[in-house]
Amino acid sequence: MAVEVENLSYSYGKTVALEDISFKIHEGEKIAILGPNGAGKTTLLKCILGILKARGKVSVLGRDPRRDREVLKLVSYVPQKSSLSTDIPLRVIDALRTASEEIDFEILRKLELEEKTRVLFRELSGGFQQRVLIARALMRKPKLLLLDEPFNGVDVVSQKKIVEVLEKIDATVIVVVHNINPLLHSLHRVMLLNKRIVAFGKANEVFTKENMLKVYGTEIPLVVCENGITHPLYGDQHG
Ligand code: ATP
Repeated sequence: MAVEVENLSYSYGKTVALEDISFKIHEGEKIAILGPNGAGKTTLLKCILGILKARGKVSVLGRDPRRDREVLKLVSYVPQKSSLSTDIPLRVIDALRTASEEIDFEILRKLELEEKTRVLFRELSGGFQQRVLIARALMRKPKLLLLDEPFNGVDVVSQKKIVEVLEKIDATVIVVVHNINPLLHSLHRVMLLNKRIVAFGKANEVFTKENMLKVYGTEIPLVVCENGITHPLYGDQHG
């Protein structure tokens, strides 16, 4: 099992962020976590990483990340709005080397970064910076990849490149997203979270009128695409 969580709860002082969360993610599965602002999505990723010490069982690749920090060598995490220090004039190639001495040119090619290796990271556009951060996470050859809002401020071309790469990797992938549509066809399962798990399963089982109302507190239109997959429509682009 890649991740196993049982009866997990986490509070920041008096603010309850997560309550009685239980789920299992198999190795190689690609899942997305959705929910409104403040639903506890980032908190859940940090509990999986053992950064936050939650109550309950947390197991990553069969080990407890709260006690066994070595297991994190097998995990890559790209936090929300993450960046690299822009005080240091770091070239892309050097930024990548901070993750892995050995540069995987195949990853660079797939993310169309070959031409950018000599460019300063801080001079790249937001979308290309995100591609570099994902390339960097992948070069560590993780068994588990956690991405928090990888599409924030990223245009459709960069989104597409990122999705294509995620589709092809063998690692287990957990992505926190607000707009799931660019990624939906590449996922095995989707989790709806609002402090508790409202639903976790295949898109067509999870995206129901009732579940969306329960998690977001408002109606969200649902459409079935030509491949028979249900998509939520939040006034965004259908991937
Ligand atoms: P968003 O979609 O806005 O990024 P989220 O689903 O990732 O939200 P979290 O960031 O996990 O939600 O926050 C869950 C709850 O915990 C919120 O009520 C938030 O205000 C609270 N919270 C998060 N971090 C802290 C912190 N460091 N100290 C106190 N409260 C926090």
